[in-house]
Amino acid sequence: MKKAIFPGSFDPFTIGHHDIVLRGLQLFDEIIIGVGHNINKRESFPLEERLLAIKDVFKSEPRVKVLAYDNLTVDFATEQQAQFILRGVRSIQDFEYERNIAEANKLLSGIETVLLYTRPEYAHISSTLLRDLHSHNKDITSYLPPKQ
Ligand code: ADP
Repeated sequence: MKKAIFPGSFDPFTIGHHDIVLRGLQLFDEIIIGVGHNINKRESFPLEERLLAIKDVFKSEPRVKVLAYDNLTVDFATEQQAQFILRGVRSIQDFEYERNIAEANKLLSGIETVLLYTRPEYAHISSTLLRDLHSHNKDITSYLPPKQ
């Protein structure tokens, strides 16, 4: 059974994140979306709201679980008995960042990171952009996963 965690802040969960999970389901039997909760990080959308929204998106997909975590990603992955960490790459900056974390995580735990490239039409989408638009009262619905 191939199990992956897809860790992130998901503040909020975007159409780009959704696409990575759907494509990940072609590779893994189960994906656990790990919503990282860092008390030192300023969050725009409350944790409970983010969890509920993501659960709602995947309510008819039993192979996706949604959990909050506040420990180290590799410790969370180990607890969940996941052999893989799934991440998305939009740009060269993402690539450099992900490479360092993947290397550290591999050394710490032996867990492999699997990277999927974003679909080009989603490459410009980030939670930061959505938070910015939202704070200026712009409609962000088209950047969010479709309601099931
Ligand atoms: P973090 O705070 O850990 O960077 P994010 O919630 O911003 O978490 O993102 C989680 C994962 O999703 C990361 O691997 C990130 O590169 C990826 N990701 C973010 N936006 C997109 C997108 N538009 N397309 C594909 N992957 C994305």
